[in-house]
Amino acid sequence: MQMKDLISSDKWKKFGADFNDHSGMTAYAYDAAGDHVIEKRRWANQLCPIIRGGEPHREESVCAKSHKAMAELVRKEGKIIVGTCQAGLLNIALPVFVGNDFAGIVGGCGLLPPKGEVDADVVNAITGMEKNAATTLGQNIRRLSPEEIETQVRYLEDRVLDIVARYKEGYRKTKTRTFKSLIRDVQRKGRCHQCGACVTFCTAMNYGALELSETGRPMFRDPNKCIECGVCYMICPAVDDLNEMLKAKVGWQPPLGRTEQIGVFRARDEALRTRATDGGTVTAILSHLFEEKLIDGAAVTRQAGPFKRIPWLATDADQVIESAGSSFDFSVSGAISLYAQDYSTYSPSMRMLGPATHKGLSNVAVVGTPCQINAVRKMETLGVVPSQSVYCLLGLFCSGGYVFGDKRREKIERIGNFSWEEVDKINIRDRFLVRLKNGEQLSLRLDELDFVKRKACRYCDDYTSEFADLSFGGIGAPEGWTTVIARTAKGVKILEEAKETVLEQYDEAPDAERMITLREVIEWHSAAKKESAAQQLVKLPNGR
Ligand SMILES: Cc1cc2nc3c(=O)[nH]c(=O)nc-3n(C[C@H](O)[C@H](O)[C@H](O)COP(=O)(O)OP(=O)(O)OC[C@H]3O[C@@H](n4cnc5c(N)ncnc54)[C@H](O)[C@@H]3O)c2cc1C
Ligand code: SF4
Ligand code: SF4
Repeated sequence: MQMKDLISSDKWKKFGADFNDHSGMTAYAYDAAGDHVIEKRRWANQLCPIIRGGEPHREESVCAKSHKAMAELVRKEGKIIVGTCQAGLLNIALPVFVGNDFAGIVGGCGLLPPKGEVDADVVNAITGMEKNAATTLGQNIRRLSPEEIETQVRYLEDRVLDIVARYKEGYRKTKTRTFKSLIRDVQRKGRCHQCGACVTFCTAMNYGALELSETGRPMFRDPNKCIECGVCYMICPAVDDLNEMLKAKVGWQPPLGRTEQIGVFRARDEALRTRATDGGTVTAILSHLFEEKLIDGAAVTRQAGPFKRIPWLATDADQVIESAGSSFDFSVSGAISLYAQDYSTYSPSMRMLGPATHKGLSNVAVVGTPCQINAVRKMETLGVVPSQSVYCLLGLFCSGGYVFGDKRREKIERIGNFSWEEVDKINIRDRFLVRLKNGEQLSLRLDELDFVKRKACRYCDDYTSEFADLSFGGIGAPEGWTTVIARTAKGVKILEEAKETVLEQYDEAPDAERMITLREVIEWHSAAKKESAAQQLVKLPNGR
C-alpha cells in the first residue's frame, strides 16, 4: 500500500496546502519507504528552510532524522505522536493505516510548542548561523497552545480518516464484482456453464435479483434488487478468485487433487447395474446413504428423453434408483426423432439445492459434473446458503458436455455410420461409445465430436471433479465397472461403509502395477483436459 494509491500527488499537494492554511505549520507526508509525498512545501517559518538546507547531510541531521524517528514511532505505536525536532520545533505525526497496511505518515512541523523555544546552539551547529540570529528568527515563530495543538491533531485525523474511507469505498466499488461482471467476464466470453449457482445463491438469499431464462441462461430479474454483495461472482466455476482458498479447504494436491483412495467398483445389485451408466456405484452409494438415514435428499438428474436429463431432487432410495444412468440411455424414452429441441448431455443438478432447502432437507448429497461441484464447494468455502444443507459432494468425471440440434445429430450418425433408431445406450469414456440394440459396439473419437461440445466446456480444466468428496468415472475401469476416487475424510468413510454393504471391488487386492496403470490413465486424461483448456484460455480477449 502506497500513499499515492490513496490519493494522487496533486491531491496530497492540496492536502498539504490546506493543512498549512489551517495550522500555519509546514505540512509533510512520507510513504512507508520514507519518500516524500508532498514535494513542494510551504514553510512555517524562515528558519526551517535554512536548517533543512539543500545539502543531504543537513537534511539527514535534523528534518529527515526527526521525521524518520517519528515515522518509526507512530508506525509502532499506531497512533498520533506530538514531539519536537532537535532544533526544538513542534512535530505532529500521524500514521496512515488502511486496515493493517501501513501506508505512511502525515504531519506538520515548524511552529513552537507551548513554552518552547528554538535551540540556537543546535541551529548554529547545523547551519553555522550566528546564535543571536537564530534566536531572533526563532522569536518570530508562533507558539501553539495545547488547545491549538489538539485542534490541529483532530484536523489531521479527520482528513486522514476521510481519505482512507473514500479509498475503501472506491476500492469496494471497483473490486466487488457483481452479476454485471459475470455477464462481462463469463457470459460474453462464452464461459457460462449454466450451472445456475449464481441464481441459486441469489434466490436462496431472497434477494430476487436473478433468474434463469427458459433456456437456462442466468439473467437479471430485477437489477435494482442486486445488493452488489459479489457472492455470485465468487462462486461461479468459471471464476478463479476463490481457487486458492478452495484448494486449501480440501487439501488439494497436484496433479489430480487430493486422492486418498483409488479403486474400481460396481453395485452388488445386478438390476441396478443394468440401469446405470457404468458400475452403478453412484446410485448404490446414494441408496446406502438413504438407508442409513445419513442423507434426506439427493440432487441428481432424471431422464426426460434421449440426450435429455433434467435436475431432480430424490428423497428416498427408490427415487434415486430411478435416477441412475446418464443422458445416453435410449431404453428409457421414445425415439429421438420425437424431440425437435436441442439435446444436451449437461444437466445442472446442483440447482436442486434451493428446492431442497425449501423442503426443509438438511443433509443433501449433490451429484454433479466438476463445474457444479466446484460451485457448491465455493459456496461452502464462503459459508453461504444453500450450502449449509450439503452432506456430501459426489462428482462425475467429465471430458465435456455436448449440445446439438437435429442437423448436428444427423452429422453424428454419418460420422459413426449408425442410426439413432438403432441405439440402445451411449457412454463417454476415452471415446464416445455407442451400443446398438443388436449388441454391436461402436466407438467414435471424442475429437470427432468437438463440433457439438459446449463452448464453456472448452475452457474447463477439471476432468475428475477435483473438489468432490468422491469422484466417479468409467475411465480406467472394465466395462460395467466404475473408477472411484475417495478424496476427503468423509469420502473415505462413505466408500469404506459402502464396500461393506452395497459395493463390490473389481480387484480386491490390486497389485501395485495395476494401481499405477489406473492412476496413470486418469492422470493422462486429466492432464490432456488441463492442457487443452490452457490453450483455449490464452486465446480469450483480455485473458481469463
Ligand atoms: C456430461 C458427462 C460427461 C462425462 N464424461 C466422462 C468422461 O469423459 N470420462 C469418464 O470416465 N466418465 C465420464 N462421465 C461419468 C460417467 O458417465 C458416469 O456418470 C460415472 O462413471 C458414474 O457411473 P455409475 O454407473 O457409477 O453412476 P450411476 O449409478 O449411473 O449414477 C450416475 C449419477 O449421475 C447423475 N447424472 C447423470 N447424468 C448427469 C448429468 N448430466 N449431470 C449431473 N448428474 C448426472 C445421475 O442422476 C446419477 O445419480 C461423464 C458424465 C457426464 C454426465
Ligand atoms: S457458470 Fe454458473 S455461476 Fe457462473 S454465470 Fe454461469 S450459471 Fe452463473
Ligand atoms: S467439461 Fe464438464 S465439468 Fe467442465 S464445464 Fe463442461 S460439463 Fe462442466
